[in-house]
Amino acid sequence: MKPDLFEAPDYYNLDDLLTEEHKLIRDAARAWVKRDVSPIIEDAAQKAEFPKSIIPGLAEIGAFGPYIPVKYGGAGLDQISYGLIMQEIERGDSGVRSTASVQSSLVMYPIWKYGNEAQRQKYLPKLATGEWMGSFGLTEPDFGSNPAGMVTNFKDKGDHYLLNGAKLWISNSPFCDVAVVWAKDESGRIHGLVVERGMEGFTTPETHNKWSLRASATGELLFQDVKVPKENLLPNKSGLGAPLGCLDSARFGIAWGAIGAAMDCYDTALRYAKERIQFGKPIAAFQLQQKKLAEMITEITKAQLLAFRLGQLKNEDRATSAQISMAKRNNVDMAIKIAREARQMLGGMGITGEYSIMRHMMNLESVITYEGTHDIHLLITGLDITGHNAFK
Ligand SMILES: Cc1cc2nc3c(=O)[nH]c(=O)nc-3n(C[C@H](O)[C@H](O)[C@H](O)COP(=O)(O)OP(=O)(O)OC[C@H]3O[C@@H](n4cnc5c(N)ncnc54)[C@H](O)[C@@H]3O)c2cc1C
Repeated sequence: MKPDLFEAPDYYNLDDLLTEEHKLIRDAARAWVKRDVSPIIEDAAQKAEFPKSIIPGLAEIGAFGPYIPVKYGGAGLDQISYGLIMQEIERGDSGVRSTASVQSSLVMYPIWKYGNEAQRQKYLPKLATGEWMGSFGLTEPDFGSNPAGMVTNFKDKGDHYLLNGAKLWISNSPFCDVAVVWAKDESGRIHGLVVERGMEGFTTPETHNKWSLRASATGELLFQDVKVPKENLLPNKSGLGAPLGCLDSARFGIAWGAIGAAMDCYDTALRYAKERIQFGKPIAAFQLQQKKLAEMITEITKAQLLAFRLGQLKNEDRATSAQISMAKRNNVDMAIKIAREARQMLGGMGITGEYSIMRHMMNLESVITYEGTHDIHLLITGLDITGHNAFK
């Protein structure tokens, strides 16, 4: 892979809106990605391996629980800092960002928000350092966009719960130490349970042959009569709103992360277009290529503004789920379109691993599908503005 020459586009001087702390955090994450992710990520993606060697680095830049309080091992930062860290990581690779998103928003967040003090003390510090890695089990083979239908369930057996069921498409599953699993009790109400590797009847087979998020490990969570101690149930929230609250937090991070992937594709295409000579001049001098680049920077700038404003609302605890849906949908769509255009601008070189664009493009096919598909987020906006539910 070519050396990482990334220069971040900031067409509307958005840096002026950031605090010194935001910029320090962002720049530290950016430098780490250049130093520790860019040189190894193409090889990891080609081999379809999650590069575990980067786990300590992710912890060091605050990617595991950026907004979790310091007393639990988190970085105690605001939501814009969280967004900026996700942006920088996804600039390197969406799969690495997925690992960080899951750990922070889908594992640490529910333990922090819905867990009791003993659970926070037991799990959060180890998750913050990456000593333990987590996964989040919501999706099932027959229930993806409609998680309310889940069949994974647990029964009260007096001194423990007995968990049965299966989760599919679970990021980090093959190597996770703990899994936050959503399952129904005997009355059909959804609860979160922390399942630990080593519990009898709990297995995590890997899903192979993905063409997308190849540097992220994806798999199943299978539960066959797993005895889960009663103290592993998250006591402070139940119902579908509990997992959906986690998804709000993760989708917010994705809205920022997708900007990183788009920035990398734009920056790569711009540099290539200035250097690549055809018909006696750089291809950047042709109107058709300028149209692509001009539209890319316009869309990136709009997405940056959307994410920044959403970050302000989130900091004030005023961001609605529907606002988060809009940003996730818009920014991922923006990124995937830019990746496709940028890939064409590199001609044949665009399909090789010499450049990051094709990897981003394939990764974004997962990002546009997980955490609510592109269509599902449109239905959420539709419901919000019309009051009519078009889901069913
Ligand atoms: C790489 C990867 C990692 C993932 N990681 C995780 C994870 O860590 N944890 C986890 O729990 N899940 C994870 N997922 C699962 C992901 O969230 C689901 O794939 C997603 O929610 C869609 O579910 P589905 O694949 O079952 O598609 P389906 O729900 O079957 O949808 C198929 C198509 O139908 C459309 N559709 C569905 N319902 C409607 C409707 N009412 N109206 C109109 N169109 C509709 C969808 O938009 C989609 O285009 C991951 C997925 C991938 C690919």
